[in-house]
Amino acid sequence: MKRIAILGSTGSIGENTLAVIRKFPGKFRVIALAARANAGLLCRQAKEFHPEFVCIGDARRSARVRNDLPRGTKLLIGLDGLLQICRDGRIDEVVMAISGAQALLPLLAAVAHKKAVALANKEALVMAGGFIMRKARESGATIIPVDSEQSAIWQCLQGQDARALKKIYLTASGGPFRGFDRNKLKAISISQALSHPRWKMGRKITVDSATLMNKGLEVFEAMHLFGLSPDAITVVVHPESIIHSMVEFIDGVVLAQLSVTDMRIPIQYALTYPERLASALPAVDFFKLGLIHFERPDGNSFPCLKLAYAAARASGTMPAVLSAANEMCVEGFLGGALSFTGIPRVIEKVLSCHRNTQRPALEEILNADAWAREEAKRRID
Ligand code: MG
Repeated sequence: MKRIAILGSTGSIGENTLAVIRKFPGKFRVIALAARANAGLLCRQAKEFHPEFVCIGDARRSARVRNDLPRGTKLLIGLDGLLQICRDGRIDEVVMAISGAQALLPLLAAVAHKKAVALANKEALVMAGGFIMRKARESGATIIPVDSEQSAIWQCLQGQDARALKKIYLTASGGPFRGFDRNKLKAISISQALSHPRWKMGRKITVDSATLMNKGLEVFEAMHLFGLSPDAITVVVHPESIIHSMVEFIDGVVLAQLSVTDMRIPIQYALTYPERLASALPAVDFFKLGLIHFERPDGNSFPCLKLAYAAARASGTMPAVLSAANEMCVEGFLGGALSFTGIPRVIEKVLSCHRNTQRPALEEILNADAWAREEAKRRID
């Protein structure tokens, strides 16, 4: 039995993780569940899975959770609670499905305590990828990607000599506004940005997918997970989203990973790795699919991707600034304070006035994150 903690259990990745766990009752035991604010769903999950711990991020909801927990489940609160879970000796694998920079400290704790980490969060790797991967090498922790593109690359590289890897192709659906020009993008509403053609996801990542910043954040993920420079990563738009990414080796051979677009597939592999278990989901139907397409991303309409590459090449504290400014802009957009095209505009301004620090310590990364949030906020209001 693998003993699992799910941080972010009430979000889209968390719910899908529990759906996978339900299918294999003898394989997994849920030890801990954590949610930011959705007390009702957290309690329903606790009654079904009887974890040792639940953790609620928002302390104001703790009374509501306490009154509704099954017997034997202990309540933890806030960041301290998350850190306690990540250090707990009874847990083998932590599913890190918290959105945003708040995942960084729990992730570092899980890595320091040599957990297997099924990583769905992107922002922590963007801000502090070098730092996290170094800590993982030191402790012997394994980081298993959940993001479909990184899972694809991870799967293509199994059994391969890493020195033979030449480059990777990160595939992108292009988002709901593929083919739109800048003028058309100015008027995009919140609800339009929240309806993705291929994937059903949380709000932050859905807006990131619409601006292509999500693909930009994935460039950082791939850099850190697979030890690549930004120039060895090419983004290719592939609207059918059947190929989840590809790797090219030095002999010119390309391997691709294909499956239907359902997050339960990469989640299941991250839970069962290195084993593969049967899935009840449909397989790819090539005869129904017929054709697949590839095109270059449109850098004029979607400047976020270019900004991400620029921050990746600058490295140092610049990636943390990019990610923090983006988080604030997405929040601003979702709150009605910023237009869709305002997102890249504000991020670019924040990046351009940041004084970059190379090889930053963790504290410098956190300071850059806080600085970028203030700077972005000032320009949004
Ligand atoms: Mg992805």
